Amino acid sequence: MPALNIDRADFLKAEDIVIFERSVARFLDEHAPESRVGKWREAGIVERAMWREAGEAGLLCLTVPEEYGGAGGDFRHDVVLMEQLAKKGVSGFAASLHNAIVAPYILHYGSEEQKKTWLPKMASGEMIGAIAMSEPCAGSDLQGVKTSARLDGNQYVINGQKTFISNGQLADLVVVVAKTDPSLGAKGTSLIVVETNKAEGFHRGRNLEKIGQEAQDTSELFFDNVRVPTSNLLGRQEGQGFVQLMQQLPQERLTIGVSGVAVIERALDLTIAYVKERKAFGQRLIDFQNTQFKLAECKTEATIARIFIDRLIGLHLEGKLDAATASMAKYWVSDLENKIVDTCLQLFGGYGYMTEYPIARMFRDSRVQRIYGGSNEIMKVLIARTL
Ligand SMILES: Cc1cc2nc3c(=O)[nH]c(=O)nc-3n(C[C@H](O)[C@H](O)[C@H](O)COP(=O)(O)OP(=O)(O)OC[C@H]3O[C@@H](n4cnc5c(N)ncnc54)[C@H](O)[C@@H]3O)c2cc1C
Repeated sequence: MPALNIDRADFLKAEDIVIFERSVARFLDEHAPESRVGKWREAGIVERAMWREAGEAGLLCLTVPEEYGGAGGDFRHDVVLMEQLAKKGVSGFAASLHNAIVAPYILHYGSEEQKKTWLPKMASGEMIGAIAMSEPCAGSDLQGVKTSARLDGNQYVINGQKTFISNGQLADLVVVVAKTDPSLGAKGTSLIVVETNKAEGFHRGRNLEKIGQEAQDTSELFFDNVRVPTSNLLGRQEGQGFVQLMQQLPQERLTIGVSGVAVIERALDLTIAYVKERKAFGQRLIDFQNTQFKLAECKTEATIARIFIDRLIGLHLEGKLDAATASMAKYWVSDLENKIVDTCLQLFGGYGYMTEYPIARMFRDSRVQRIYGGSNEIMKVLIARTL
């Protein structure tokens, strides 16, 4: 029995979406069983072959129009993939970042030529995408980005260092946040695409060791006089980078809420099943009033989160989701996810602390949801500005 009593919003129950959901679930069962995901975790990286397999199955660039090689879907398809990845415990395979965060920058701001060059390769899995905003000294405060892109004839010369970049070891295409005019602050910031195989002076640093999401190759990147053609700038003119980021970050923040609710529901499903089996003092754990009350609270909050997120998905599909509301989803759901996963882990007792139990991995994987995509404190700063 599913953890929640309520139905999904109607637009998520459309026949084609339900069929798509089944096919994604089947794909993940076949291509990302725990035995394979476990190897990725040990290696600290997802096999490149998995990206090709996802591309062949039509799971990359879900919202990119077919003329650019994409699946021609809408944000509901992104939602389905994110939810299934969370529900099947396939953490670390950052297809959703590639699909719902990186590809949209090219789709929305790229020239016709850029779209035709890069999107079909991203859709097939030939090119894996990353976005490089954060730097060792500039995370929350992106205006402090030091990476520079100096104009030299018909080329930009990029210098700088990025860190915490998801897909960092695998990335073939990196959308780099750089200052094209450092004297202008935010207005001197631009987004420039670097194709890593063509970029002399581009180096990958450490694949960073993390407390969770171990299969994800979150890395340092270095740019040492990397030359790219000026035609790699996203947007018609320089200085648009901050505006482009502000326009796209709400979707990134909503995706964190979407995956957060899916994790919450999985945690509840697993825990409810466990407390009905496990016995102590001659009765099942579910028979203790403490267990019932804890899970009643979790179920209530999970239901509130589900209704909230589905409503926001609906607003986003209509193009009406504002930045502050997306920030609410990001911070509130990720806080709730951490709280509920922690409560569930407690109900597993010692087993909850064992990495072989999914709840233990969910505990470690969830922690970063409060940090990346803009920390939860920054979300509150953004919300507070609208008061
Ligand atoms: C696993 C992982 C994957 C990531 N993937 C990517 C990626 O693909 N691309 C990318 O560009 N970045 C990525 N990041 C970076 C991430 O977005 C940043 O870590 C995040 O934005 C926070 O920046 P910071 O780490 O520099 O922390 P800081 O900015 O140094 O913040 C430290 C603390 O101070 C708080 N703080 C800062 N400013 C304020 C303020 N004004 N008011 C109140 N509190 C404040 C923060 O909330 C935080 O608690 C990733 C990070 C991780 C851990």
